[in-house]
Amino acid sequence: MRTVLFTDIDDCFMATKRKFSESDSLSIASLDIDGQARSFMSEKQRTLLELFIDTRSTIIPVTGRSYNTLKRVQVSSLFKSWMVVSHGALIIEPNGKKCNAWVEHIKNKFPLGLWSDKLNLINEELKEFILSKGFNAQSYIVSEDDIDCYVCVKCTEGIDYDFIFDSILSQISIDLNDIKIHINGRNMALLPPYTQKKLAVDYIIRQLDEKSLILTMGDSLSDIPFMKLSDFALMPTKSQIADSLSW
Ligand SMILES: [Mg+2]
Repeated sequence: MRTVLFTDIDDCFMATKRKFSESDSLSIASLDIDGQARSFMSEKQRTLLELFIDTRSTIIPVTGRSYNTLKRVQVSSLFKSWMVVSHGALIIEPNGKKCNAWVEHIKNKFPLGLWSDKLNLINEELKEFILSKGFNAQSYIVSEDDIDCYVCVKCTEGIDYDFIFDSILSQISIDLNDIKIHINGRNMALLPPYTQKKLAVDYIIRQLDEKSLILTMGDSLSDIPFMKLSDFALMPTKSQIADSLSW
């Protein structure tokens, strides 16, 4: 039976340097926009990935990264099949092309023009609020071609992220109904209803051979809905999910 692993990437198979201990032996896993090393992979992460490669598993990334940001990842074994990017708003087919059937599907199901207006309003209000408070953070919209996927608020590293996110969410006046808020570390994503990893993973599972063994891996609480679509789910024991469990 074929094994298919749907996996989040950041904080699963790679992470920024400060998340590792001094003694970890690291290799470069992704670059930043200037071509400098940004994320790293430990030997244990590499060994886990090799387990799936050696058993010829199909590895499908399921990430909040945009397609362009995903291309900065230097681990080619993650690019051999389908890919779910921008938190599920876009699917890339195994041939590397954007999945038009998926784009049509969400265009038919959701009023994307209205949502685009709403995301732009939210982004403008967030930018004004951040500026007025002098926070070291940026708000911007992550888009894939003509689809506005979500609003991202990214804090500068090393500041009190929770204080900033709490201030934003308690003080901005805009209606966040139907928007899912995902906070992990220095990032906050405000996700419209069509931007869900779960919807995209469910779509791909329906394209696969029924007899596949489906595995999933994720670290964030927001990964749980797509992880539950699997037969078995994995998580790093140092992760937001693990921290939320009493065990
Ligand atoms: Mg993650």
